[in-house]
Amino acid sequence: MTDTALVELKNLEKEFAGTKALKGVSLSFLAGEVHGLLGENGAGKSTLIKILTGVYSPSAGEILLEGAPVRVSSPPEARRLGLGAVYQDAELVSSFTVGQNILLGNEPGRFGVSDRAIHDEATAILADMGIDLDARRMASTLSAAEMQLVTLATLFHRRYKLIVLDEPTARLSAAESEVLFRIIERFKKQGIAIVYISHRLKEVQEICDRATILRGGMVSGTLNRGEVTEDRVTELMVDRNRSELSIYNDGSRARPEVLLEVTELATANLSPLSFTIRVGEVLGITGPVGGGMEDVARALGGVVRHAGKASLRGKAIDVRTPIAARRSGVALIPEDRRKQALFPALSVAENICLPVLNRLERFLTIRPGAIRKYSDDVMGQLAVRPRNAALQVRFFSGGNQQKVVIGKWMSAGASLYIIVEPTNGVDVGAIKEIYDIILRLAQDGAAVLLVSSSLRETLALADRVMVIHDGKCVAEAPKTHWTYDELLAVTLSGKSKTAA
Ligand code: ADP
Ligand code: MG
Repeated sequence: MTDTALVELKNLEKEFAGTKALKGVSLSFLAGEVHGLLGENGAGKSTLIKILTGVYSPSAGEILLEGAPVRVSSPPEARRLGLGAVYQDAELVSSFTVGQNILLGNEPGRFGVSDRAIHDEATAILADMGIDLDARRMASTLSAAEMQLVTLATLFHRRYKLIVLDEPTARLSAAESEVLFRIIERFKKQGIAIVYISHRLKEVQEICDRATILRGGMVSGTLNRGEVTEDRVTELMVDRNRSELSIYNDGSRARPEVLLEVTELATANLSPLSFTIRVGEVLGITGPVGGGMEDVARALGGVVRHAGKASLRGKAIDVRTPIAARRSGVALIPEDRRKQALFPALSVAENICLPVLNRLERFLTIRPGAIRKYSDDVMGQLAVRPRNAALQVRFFSGGNQQKVVIGKWMSAGASLYIIVEPTNGVDVGAIKEIYDIILRLAQDGAAVLLVSSSLRETLALADRVMVIHDGKCVAEAPKTHWTYDELLAVTLSGKSKTAA
């Protein structure tokens, strides 16, 4: 590590229609440094990274690369400058081999280079990086972890100067994380700057030379290795000026009867977990992304292999497949609604009515107007805007799409609604409306399992909060027993704590 600022950010500002996501961020990344980036949801991390990689242009401020001002006007421009990022769902050209991805990527050209030469060269690069992977494998056969490693090899080969890793270990096993950490060491020796976004304090302590904490769109502090303690980080992260810690759920819905009982639920990433949810209750599960909380939702929704038992109102239910789960009265509203929950090219009416088509058929004999009328009612109830049931779903904003997904399941009527990251990518204006809708789901004898990495959201909506870290439940208590700071400390450190 040298003291040359490889990249210097000066007073970066970014304003989205009405929201100031960054309010004057000044920060430097040194060559050969691993620089941690921390901050609660909404602090501005993604916005900062997107500016660095040319996805957004800043409203004000300057970026210096090796001392000279640069305009990172687009992602290709960022690539040309050597600024890159690896996201959790790294993308490769799936019809290419590993070797072709590393050497050709999505840039055409280099015609006439033999297959043999490409794969020999890629094999050497992989070996050099300590990645044990066959260069001839098709990218489409790689696991998420392997894709991430190949993406890193690609950036390394192209001599990137700064690489952002966004929660890179979220989908990696312990062994895979070790491979990643070794690669990061290699990068450091080459003078590459690494920006490391993580919510796992232990990782930041182990691999980062410095860590910067963002709060409300500003830098609240930069800590050197050794200064990154749970107390310091918590103190710098919590935004005392934010008011939306308001409590939407006053707990008046929860009744004493148990609705769902889960016994020893386990997946590849989740140690056996038992819990109950009462009628009318919202159980909030939080923790670092990829730490196992998602698997609770995916197992109960039937989309991931699991062991363990579940019963609804005392009766054992089958949740081995998504269809079985649906029949049992469990509705999973996943995070990636575009890919998993909606048909973007169908109208809102068609999307909302899909789960109830047989019912509508029976009662309404599918008069063309019936579907329209039915979905118009649902849209009205959920304040979907614009209220036009004939419009294709892809034309709606993230927040309104989310309402359509919820509307789809509401109309089908479930006993347990599992909702994952309901406000990710949702416009600020729609958040409160979505919270209202979620609470309405926990009525009429149903309940909600909320899985969210946002601590504020969890505290605002849940009656009870459970923290899952590295596949284990490290804490569980009624919402009233938690302070925001305690919840943040447990989530960051993964140390169990019984809230007083
Ligand atoms: P983080 O990654 O730290 O969670 P973000 O950079 O995603 O934070 O968000 C910072 C703030 O900017 C939030 O208030 C968020 O709602 C807002 N924001 C982010 N992207 C957009 C966008 N495309 N349009 C409007 N507001 C946005
Ligand atoms: Mg983000």
